[in-house]
Amino acid sequence: MGWYKNQQARYEAKKAEQPHETLRDRRTRVDAQKSARAAYRAAVRDAKPAGQPAPSTHGRSRPEIVCPQCQTKGSVSVESVKRKTGIHGGKATAALFTGGVSLLATGLSGHRATTRAHCNNCKSTWEF
Ligand SMILES: [Zn+2]
Repeated sequence: MGWYKNQQARYEAKKAEQPHETLRDRRTRVDAQKSARAAYRAAVRDAKPAGQPAPSTHGRSRPEIVCPQCQTKGSVSVESVKRKTGIHGGKATAALFTGGVSLLATGLSGHRATTRAHCNNCKSTWEF
């Protein structure tokens, strides 16, 4: 018996804390939640690319790499990117001189995987 009374008392106390909300209150609250969510989504969307990406989103951190630009260790992050390899005209000629080995290794068409590194210290980006 005592247990039930206790529960009842708790329930009453809770009810007193949170007065019954009217339908209008509820609508206002739901609208507020909706616009808050929309604002959050817009913020997330706007926070992405558009110029310099945030350092934390730029690939994986590689503390052992030394930046060739500013010689700083520990500020470099890398990500894998795919490059289109061209076999036409000047591009193919350039590839023969500069990237001939990798071109032969991966074939004459398609995508070549490369690693893009970014230094958060001097903001430079390079590939290797
Ligand atoms: Zn650097």
